[in-house]
Amino acid sequence: MMLTTVTVDTMRAWILNDTDGPDSFSLDEVDTPEPGPGDVRVRIVMSGLNHLDLWVSQGLPAPGSFPHVAGGDAAGVVDSVGEGVDGWSAGDEVIVDPTVSCGKCEQCLHDDATYCADFSILGEHRWGTLAEYVVVPARNLRPKFADLSWEVAGTFGLVTGTAYRMLKRARLRRGDTVLVVGIGGGVSSMAFLVAKALGARVWVTSRSPEKITWATESGAEGGFDSSADFSKEAKEVTNGGVDIVIENVGPATWNQSIRSMRKGGRMAVCGGTTGSKVELSLPALFFKQLEIIGSSMATHSQFARALHMVESGDVVVPIDSVHDFEDVPAAIERLDSGEHMGKVAIRR
Ligand SMILES: [Zn+2]
Repeated sequence: MMLTTVTVDTMRAWILNDTDGPDSFSLDEVDTPEPGPGDVRVRIVMSGLNHLDLWVSQGLPAPGSFPHVAGGDAAGVVDSVGEGVDGWSAGDEVIVDPTVSCGKCEQCLHDDATYCADFSILGEHRWGTLAEYVVVPARNLRPKFADLSWEVAGTFGLVTGTAYRMLKRARLRRGDTVLVVGIGGGVSSMAFLVAKALGARVWVTSRSPEKITWATESGAEGGFDSSADFSKEAKEVTNGGVDIVIENVGPATWNQSIRSMRKGGRMAVCGGTTGSKVELSLPALFFKQLEIIGSSMATHSQFARALHMVESGDVVVPIDSVHDFEDVPAAIERLDSGEHMGKVAIRR
């Protein structure tokens, strides 16, 4: 009898086989993904955790199939390129843009990837970056310049791109007053730093005095206790209310956030960490002529602009901690604790 052996390359990955929460991640060997036409495979040097990874582990949303590899952020080295890929070759140091779309529809061709019918987030519906390798469309790569640290390159992307788009959707102008609710979370911290770099005057809220201290030491005008009536203070310091509120807390802060706006104020919302439903007072909405603006991820050009702000030093990305790949559970625990201040990175 002749035995034929088929060799399939495998890689180590933190996989989910169910969605029972953050304890569901386990380190295993899986087939290394192959780049299809237009794709590039990246050997990951550094990846970052996001709250999204915790949501996915709870089935919010559930992955399309198991095993699943979560993780949206990474930087690394091009390992192999698929058919028809120009401009990238093995050895290039790259940053992965986590907004995935079809690349062919009218929205994609007009750089509106977030409006694509096939819009998804890396690590949500397709295998992500909690592995040794990740495959993404070539259009999802940006060059990593040597001066940018791997820690920042591999972790800034999802939250900084999201924050940048929220501020653009809210039509931020130099000199605007901005209230960032729930500072300390990834998107809110970056929204504060990006808004400041774009010339805004920024106030923050948090339940943690340490996080408010971090923000004021990093250039915030001031900070308020999230669990108090912060709208009163916000209106006082801005003579009637802020131009823009950045919200991703949800029910716990919603009413205060609405009251913090001046007439004609805009609120950009990218999530709700305390729940998915809120009540809206219609008189407040129409009488104050408020705008409530949903936002999700970033277009490829917005991601590139966010990257430029980070590369140029206009925005300094805080890194909370760097963990070994084998220690992902400790990194997840750190993120889940809510005590982190800045990005949680995973090195290879
Ligand atoms: Zn598309």
